[in-house]
Order: sequence, then C-alpha cells, then structure tokens
Amino acid sequence: MSIRQLPVELANQIAAGEVVERPASVVKELIENSLDAGATEIVIDIEAGGRKRIRVRDNGSGIAKDELALALARHATSKISTLDDLEAIYSLGFRGEALASMSSVSRLVLTSKPAAQQQAWQAWTNGRDMQAQIEPAAHPDGTTIDISDLFFNTPARRKFLRTDKTEFGHIDEMVKRIALSRFDVSFQLRHNQQLVRQLPIANTPKQRQQRLAKLCGSLFAEQAQRISVESQGYHLEGWFAPSAGCRHQPDVQYFFVNGRMMRDKLLAHALRQAYEPWLIDEKVPTYVLFLRLPAEQVDVNVHPAKHEVRFHQARQVHDWLLQQVRHGLQAVEQDPSAALVT
Ligand code: ADP
Ligand code: MG
Repeated sequence: MSIRQLPVELANQIAAGEVVERPASVVKELIENSLDAGATEIVIDIEAGGRKRIRVRDNGSGIAKDELALALARHATSKISTLDDLEAIYSLGFRGEALASMSSVSRLVLTSKPAAQQQAWQAWTNGRDMQAQIEPAAHPDGTTIDISDLFFNTPARRKFLRTDKTEFGHIDEMVKRIALSRFDVSFQLRHNQQLVRQLPIANTPKQRQQRLAKLCGSLFAEQAQRISVESQGYHLEGWFAPSAGCRHQPDVQYFFVNGRMMRDKLLAHALRQAYEPWLIDEKVPTYVLFLRLPAEQVDVNVHPAKHEVRFHQARQVHDWLLQQVRHGLQAVEQDPSAALVT
C-alpha cells in the first residue's frame, strides 16, 4: 500500500478516540473550556444521556468572529504557544484538539459573542476537510457549544455507549467533580429538560458548606473538618473525615491537584497511610482536598484526557501530604474545634 496523507476529518476522528470516550468526556472538555474562558456561570443541558444532545453555555470571554474557524481546527489553541509554556500550564486545556475532535464525531455548532463584538456568530464544520462555515446568530456575551448525535458517524464508538441513565450518571459525576473544584462559579445541569443540579456561586463559608452538602451529602458536610496549611511551597486545603462507610453512597474521595481532579496511586497511598490509625470500625477515608504546588513541578501532559499528572518530586509530595493530613487528623482528635478555625 502506498503512503497517503489522511483526510482532516479522519485524522480528527482518530484523535477523538483518545479525548472523547463517552458523553461525560465531552462535558468535561466543554466545561473546562468555559472555565478557561473565565466564565462565572455555566449551564449544561443534556438529552438522552448525552447521545442525543449536549449543550454547554457560558458567560466567558467568547471567541471573536475571525477566530471561530481556528477554534474548530486541530492543534489550534489560545492557551500555549511555545514549548516553554508546556513546562508550566495554568489552564485546564492546552492541546487544542477537543473541539476539532468532537466536531469530527458529532454535529457541533459553536456560537459565540465576545463582549467587545456587536454581533454573535456561529460556526460548524463540513466535509472531509472540515472546512468551517459561519453565519450571524443571536447570543448574549459568552459561548454556547451545541453537540448533537454524538458518534453518529462512528458506529464502533456508539456501540459502547451504555443506557441513558448510566451515561447521564457519568456526566453528573463529572459535573460534581468540577463543581467541587470551583465554588466561585455557578453551575446548572439539566437532563431531558429537568433540573438536576442548581449550584449558585458559593463564596462565603456558609454557601460553601451548602454546596458541599449538596454534592457530598449532608453527613460529610457535617462531619468533615476543614484544613488549610501551607509550607515548602505546597498548599493543602479542603475537608476531611474518617467516616463510617455508607452502603448507599459512593465514598467521598476527591483530590485535586492545581484545580484538576486526579486519581493518583501515589497520593491515594499517602492519604490511606495518613488515615490508617483512624480506620477502625469499618471507617473509610473521606476527603475533598485541594493541593496546590508550583505549575512547573507537575507535568499534566501525560495523557490526552489529563487524568494523570507526574510530579517532579513525587516522594517529597507524598511525604508532605501524609504528614499534613495526619497532623490534621491528630489535631482534630485532641481538640475537635481545632480544624474548624482555619
Ligand atoms: P484547548 O482548550 O486545548 O485550547 P479546544 O479545542 O478545547 O482546545 O479549544 C480551542 C480554542 O477555542 C481554545 O484555546 C479557546 O481559545 C477557544 N474556546 C473553546 N471553548 C471556548 C469557550 N467556551 N469560550 C471561549 N473560548 C473558547
Ligand atoms: Mg479545551
């Protein structure tokens, strides 16, 4: 067989295989884009578990008319421009392939209006070369991405979709994680026109407590102690509690590194070790914790979906975390009001 350049659409569909696993991954990419655009209000509409429709609207910076086509092109991003930028990533996105990938495996319409622009415009792509079309539209300041018929042209992928209920469950979990990481942003989630989550901006301790109760259950919100410590350039904040395992609710175990939710073996190990002395009577570690460290000390460019990070000083991070959480737990044991003060 002779060597041929793949058509743009096919190349993007192949890339989509890594970024777009299921409707929940689409929702993740779209919300992350909204957050990167500085949105404070994000509205998510889902139909039929996301297979029929996923629409995310935000009040962020918007995309200028003459950049709409670029936004839909692969390897086009406003977030990094040099290899140096890759050394310290401050945005959630940076690969510049989410919109192009999603657009190649669904019917995607992007509508946007930056505040400085009079008119809103919408764009979508066509054909094997994915040329962008654009036309005027009506839209307030911000952006809406409307995706319908996900995987309509990739039957192999479509076959792997589960029931609407299951797919929506994954979407809800994704929204929950992101909502935990950004109390300063309001989120609304609807499924088949029914309001499922309504989370107003939570800037005061009381409002944060309310959001925590909504997302993690009132039991966790009541029991959990607050932690906020900083040393050696690391900052750890959040809530933690050794809780009685609850049969009907998944464990509250959320760990964020520089704003991204992570499932990291090393960190999980540090936490399990820290909680160990307290895990009696079938208690399990529960936590919502946010670790911040200098961006150049973590590499997020490990996996296209960015589930993983690599720490440059893994051992040090592990030991620091273990120590802080264990101290926190000890302090609470000696004086239950101790952790509440911070
Ligand atoms: P990445 O997020 O990696 O840059 P994407 O394909 O997700 O790549 O998005 C491409 C570009 O489109 C972004 O860099 C950004 O400039 C723009 N963009 C996407 N979504 C939004 C949005 N909701 N608001 C403003 N700009 C957006
Ligand atoms: Mg993105």
